[in-house]
Amino acid sequence: MGVAALAIDRNTSDEELQDLASEFEMREPQQVLRWALEEFGNDVALATGFGAEGCVLVHMLSQIDRYARIFYLDTDVLFPETYALREQLEVRYGVRFERRATVLSLEDQSKQFGEQLWERQPDLCCKLRKVEPLLETLGDLSAWITAIRRDQTPARATAGIVERDQKFGLIKINPLAGWSSFDVWRYIAKHDVPYNPLHNSGYSSIGCKPCTTAVRIGEDPRAGRWRGAQKTECGLHK
Ligand code: SF4
Repeated sequence: MGVAALAIDRNTSDEELQDLASEFEMREPQQVLRWALEEFGNDVALATGFGAEGCVLVHMLSQIDRYARIFYLDTDVLFPETYALREQLEVRYGVRFERRATVLSLEDQSKQFGEQLWERQPDLCCKLRKVEPLLETLGDLSAWITAIRRDQTPARATAGIVERDQKFGLIKINPLAGWSSFDVWRYIAKHDVPYNPLHNSGYSSIGCKPCTTAVRIGEDPRAGRWRGAQKTECGLHK
């Protein structure tokens, strides 16, 4: 494969990480995934929200090792189509998705913070239902794999293929950082990868049902997320 055999640990310098990230710019995402599994074994996991990019990585991982760890954050308010896609991917590729979620039920959340918290305080809602379960999950890992692409948001524009996640204190691997949306859909078509049917109805980026709307032609692909609010990220990626 020819990927540099640099052992990554807490003592790896930022310079060494940057060298590795530069080398990975020349590699296919599958090579990066292979390296991640060899380097971290069970201490690395893919996080997916079942977006198109996530489906690509699930397919790639299943071809390398279908027992590789994959988790998702279940906020209890995902679209029915998203839950159906989860089942479809498990059956098709023999992978298993680890469910991570807050113990705070929607009912208890309403009692404590009021009904439909996402409408009044989406940052708090994301913190409770996404960020805290993620924090707990990442606490047991040395590295995580994400499906982010640089051209999705300004906050993602500088993402390295591999980098130190300053926010959560572990290694972050973004095999698709350099891919375009075209690359993603070309891969899906070529390999007949299942994807969320909502994408065919104008939902270019799909999160929780209460906070996601379809986008109109010409709008930013993520304009349907938290429409009308300044918010553009859940707090998972900085
Ligand atoms: Fe809550 Fe919306 Fe964030 Fe989902 S995306 S956790 S519903 S604020």
